[in-house]
Amino acid sequence: MKPSEPELIPLSALLAEGRAILSANTSAEPQVDARLLIEHATGLNRTRQLANPDGLVPMAQAEQARAAFARRAGGEPVAYIVGYRSFWHHDFLVTKDTLIPRPETEHLVEWALDKIPLYQEVTVIDLGTGSGAIALSLAIERPNALVIGCDLSRAALRVARANQAQMAPNAPKPVGWINGHWACMLKAHRADLIVSNPPYIAANDPHLNQGDVRFEPRSALVAEGEGLDDYRVIIEQAYRVLKPGGWLIFEHGYNQGESLRALLAEAGFVSIETRQDLAGLPRNTAGQIAPNGTK
Ligand code: GLN
Repeated sequence: MKPSEPELIPLSALLAEGRAILSANTSAEPQVDARLLIEHATGLNRTRQLANPDGLVPMAQAEQARAAFARRAGGEPVAYIVGYRSFWHHDFLVTKDTLIPRPETEHLVEWALDKIPLYQEVTVIDLGTGSGAIALSLAIERPNALVIGCDLSRAALRVARANQAQMAPNAPKPVGWINGHWACMLKAHRADLIVSNPPYIAANDPHLNQGDVRFEPRSALVAEGEGLDDYRVIIEQAYRVLKPGGWLIFEHGYNQGESLRALLAEAGFVSIETRQDLAGLPRNTAGQIAPNGTK
């Protein structure tokens, strides 16, 4: 007679299984990933897992966790398996139609917040909003701002709207979503601030065949012209859409700061500055429309 399967498995044994599979495969952080996937299957968050490491997990949930380990071992990003990623102060829904928000993009949020006064009704536009992570983070911090998220992908905008809805009852109210190609559908002199984390990876970059990016939408990652073509379009359109004194702030690749400063200067922007991320790499560049009104 076959011994019957145990009905329960200790959390610590499940965690050890996950860690073993993930460290042999994709994960740079097998322990962190295994815990997130176990949380997804069992509902036990990290704190509860740490508080009760030998708690018993029902076999059906353990099987779900094992299925998630297998997907992760096949390379799929944790964020797509569990369906969300933490960014700024929130968990954002993500799907294969949206880029997964990155920690370094929080620098873009920080710099943008410096430019948005707390008590003024300014208009802020996020170009290529994807899951809406940047637009919604800004809108929550600055309730008086009118924040508009734009994206060419209707599927991405559905995710952004779902993110706004899932934040209820604290959902930021003045957020609009627009479907279109960068800023072409926006009126001239409309915006006080434009932020964008556009696609910036060159089509032949070997980085595209590694890790999470293999599963992310190419339209959100790859740009022609050494990864700079979308910046060229955005800079031209932003120049028309921004008010005098308005700011444009980009995220970019670690080796694109110099090119972006040149492109912004060529287009007539002033006060151009590049800042580094926590890894010490040039990551954000901003420029302003001259405040005196003459463009
Ligand atoms: N930072 C992402 C990466 O290098 C790319 C994001 C983007 O293209 N906007 O993985």
